[in-house]
Amino acid sequence: MRYNLYPTPVEKINLSINENNLFIKREDLISTSFGGNKARKAFLFFNELQEQNCNCVITYGSSSSNHCRVVANIAAAEGLKCIIISPTTSSSETFNSKMMKFFGAEIINCNINKVKETINNVMHKTMKQGYKPYFIEGGGHGNIGTEAYLEAYEEIKTFEIENNINFDFIFHTSGTGTTQAGLICGKLINHDSKEIIGISNARRNPYGSQVVLDSVNSYLEELGRPLVDLKKINFVDDYVCNGYGSYNKEIINVIKTLLIEEGIPMDLTYTGKGFWGMKEYIKKNQLINKNILFIHTGGTPLFYDDLEVLIGG
Ligand SMILES: *Cc1c(COP(=O)(O)O)cnc(C)c1O
Repeated sequence: MRYNLYPTPVEKINLSINENNLFIKREDLISTSFGGNKARKAFLFFNELQEQNCNCVITYGSSSSNHCRVVANIAAAEGLKCIIISPTTSSSETFNSKMMKFFGAEIINCNINKVKETINNVMHKTMKQGYKPYFIEGGGHGNIGTEAYLEAYEEIKTFEIENNINFDFIFHTSGTGTTQAGLICGKLINHDSKEIIGISNARRNPYGSQVVLDSVNSYLEELGRPLVDLKKINFVDDYVCNGYGSYNKEIINVIKTLLIEEGIPMDLTYTGKGFWGMKEYIKKNQLINKNILFIHTGGTPLFYDDLEVLIGG
């Protein structure tokens, strides 16, 4: 398995919103297991797993989880036992869940309010069986996940220097907030003035912002740096529709346009929804003549799950 992480491409796209210059950083093109932000995070988690000589990985996520698919893939490549705890409420089959099974992951379904308990039980059971388990929070949340996007931020800085450009805004889809936390830490550490705007795909404020803030401060604390306050967090919950997995006609249309005009696939749950949210945000806040970077956070298997809705069966 390749853990090398080359800087992912940043491409200018022709599509224009209010005469802004639009760029996309293609995290979906990370070269292992269909890429995406979950691959970037997982590489760092597996580094730590190996440092700690663990031989079993346990994580949490729904049947559509990109994170669980990447973790199951790497575990299979490394010959590690992989257990995925998954809520019964969102267990319908997807390309990701089919691949998790193909990679030999053991899926344990549990009631959504018994997650903590189930994780503890599974950890104890595997230890009793003689394994040394390593736990990764759902979505690759935690300081290591944050660090992965500090590294992505450094790639963006390098791109700016090499291409003599300055991004005024970075937009991306925000879920657990880890990706956003890493980008914000990168901005703070580099004393940059660019705005990092996370378009929430599910969570509402104040909870959503609070989780991002807690992740930022948790990481800054580990570095021994001063903590920050809530006013610095741009977690936008205006475009979540009816929550996780819900979408509208405009999202479908923007995905179709990107597919036709740029040849870039996006999905209804994460990237397409975030891109649409960015578009609306740009119009609402009347941003013009800015350099704007959208981070394509991956999820290519979800694009295929959505294909029928997008282009008809
Ligand atoms: C998980 C995910 C996100 C959200 O990332 P967080 O770090 O959890 O905020 C965005 N896009 C895709 C495709 C994802 O799989």
